[in-house]
Amino acid sequence: MSDALDQLFANNQKWAAKMEAREPGFFTKLLAQQEPQYLWIGCSDSRVPANDLVGLLPGELFVHRNVANLVVHSDLNALSVIQYAVDVLKVTHIIVVGHSQCGGVRAALSGRRAGLVDNWLRHVQDVRDAHQGLLRCIEDPARQVDALVELNVLEQARNLCHTTVVKDAWERGQTVVVHGWVYGLHNGLLDDLRITASGLHEVQIAYAKGLAAVAQRYLGSTGIDDVSPPP
Ligand SMILES: [Zn+2]
Repeated sequence: MSDALDQLFANNQKWAAKMEAREPGFFTKLLAQQEPQYLWIGCSDSRVPANDLVGLLPGELFVHRNVANLVVHSDLNALSVIQYAVDVLKVTHIIVVGHSQCGGVRAALSGRRAGLVDNWLRHVQDVRDAHQGLLRCIEDPARQVDALVELNVLEQARNLCHTTVVKDAWERGQTVVVHGWVYGLHNGLLDDLRITASGLHEVQIAYAKGLAAVAQRYLGSTGIDDVSPPP
């Protein structure tokens, strides 16, 4: 095996010993059950390690990651994770987390070809096209990427609310709160994008609040009437 992979096994042994020293019986306790309260739906980017940046241990965070943190209505992988998290693990919070300067979002924004992943990123381009009025008003390309990152989180959080799994949970009175956050690669901090919904009746208003906050942040206005595309 290569030296690089040997190093991973060495790191793993050190980590397991450290965890066990800190809390004897840690792993055998986890063997019996996992009781996470949170489902994290984030980007695959290696700079956004879910557990680490919210300080949660193994067993405390259920995680699904894909390129550009998408919740696609026909994605059986994501839907299966969401279903297991809600119906079996009974998580209370589901958080869609984007991150600044996301490479997937940047590629989708520019339309630059990258290969098979272009088909996946088409979903982000749908978000770009739906909000082109707002995006066109942002001159700085880096800020444009970050604005699309946030708009994408709003859209994916709304998609999440409209999955049969979440709607059924709400209908039977189960507590499930959907959130949209963004992580800053430059400072390591999370921001709440204020799209928070705990029932179907809250989704549209939460989405509108999130959208107004993005417009405020990038354009200095709370409405989106003034950012319609030029004729
Ligand atoms: Zn990313």
